[in-house]
Amino acid sequence: MQAWGDHESKFFVRRTAGAPTKSGVIGLLCAAMGLDRASVSRDWLSRLADLEMGVRVDRPGVRWWDYHTVGAGMYLRVAESEGKTRPKPETMLTRREYLCDASFLVALRGESKLIGRLDDALLHPVWTIYLGRKSCPPGRPVRASDPGTFDDLESALCSVPWQRRCRGDEVPHRVDALLDWRPTPDEPLAPDDAQVWYDVPLTFDPPAHQPRFVVGRSWTIGKDGEVALHGDPAQHDAKAPPRPRANYKNTEYRKARLARLEADKGLCVFCKSPATTVQHITYRRAGGNESHDDLRALCRLCHDAVTMIEYGEGMGIDRINPEDAAWRDRIIRTRDDIIRFRSLETRRRRLSAEEVE
Ligand SMILES: [Zn+2]
Repeated sequence: MQAWGDHESKFFVRRTAGAPTKSGVIGLLCAAMGLDRASVSRDWLSRLADLEMGVRVDRPGVRWWDYHTVGAGMYLRVAESEGKTRPKPETMLTRREYLCDASFLVALRGESKLIGRLDDALLHPVWTIYLGRKSCPPGRPVRASDPGTFDDLESALCSVPWQRRCRGDEVPHRVDALLDWRPTPDEPLAPDDAQVWYDVPLTFDPPAHQPRFVVGRSWTIGKDGEVALHGDPAQHDAKAPPRPRANYKNTEYRKARLARLEADKGLCVFCKSPATTVQHITYRRAGGNESHDDLRALCRLCHDAVTMIEYGEGMGIDRINPEDAAWRDRIIRTRDDIIRFRSLETRRRRLSAEEVE
């Protein structure tokens, strides 16, 4: 079991990315070195964040849901009561997504002394290491091979054969990979198909992440598991992990938000109900540098519909513009789904299970 998500978030639904995130891998290395995530220095984090990372997706695994009860007996803050605590203790349910039976090969590239130290930590971990979430310790040692010298990440990832897990496992024809992309003098701009992953940790506590570019590759595998280096575009559709939230307490953001609400006359740009929220249609300048055009006023229902679609699409930095006619039908359908679901939930609370089914 693995879970490469935004484990710092307080969302009720915690998704996992389709492959190890940089913050997840750095968290694993910190545990191996005995560095506390809450107190690891910025200097250490930036050294680890500077490592170039590539991930080979040997088995994508299947997605699995679990639920957790959190905060039993605690007075929880809930949105409906506008930040006030509820009068009696509640148990909060959160849903968590995991990858089951997945396996990945991760390559890290950096200065040899640092790599040597990390390798040593993986051989003799100080604390229990975990695959993204603390409830997911690895089933076997995670170190795949000795550190070596390679031309690039791709050669390093192709140097380790694809491994059978059980006798009789069929060797797949191809394997996909996700690689850090960094600008070079020859290639100063990221390719069009590069994804933006917001998973490079600046600090773990409070969580703050910066973006990186990730590009896909696909390689052929020989019958004995040997991986041949090719530069084909990847088939894998690993989605970027959920983006951490912008800092909404920022004064500049608040000003931009108010200005947008005024410009939209306090009405939802989609359905013209009173607007209760302002949505980012891009996060390019989020957290205080928003331009007027980065935001749109929305009512709660349209906001939830748009967010749900964005979530399902695994969207990165640019989001849905609710004024764009291309999204119109989907927003309407999702609004209908939400209304139907909410009325069903209300009935569930009032009726017995048999009456609802
Ligand atoms: Zn609306």
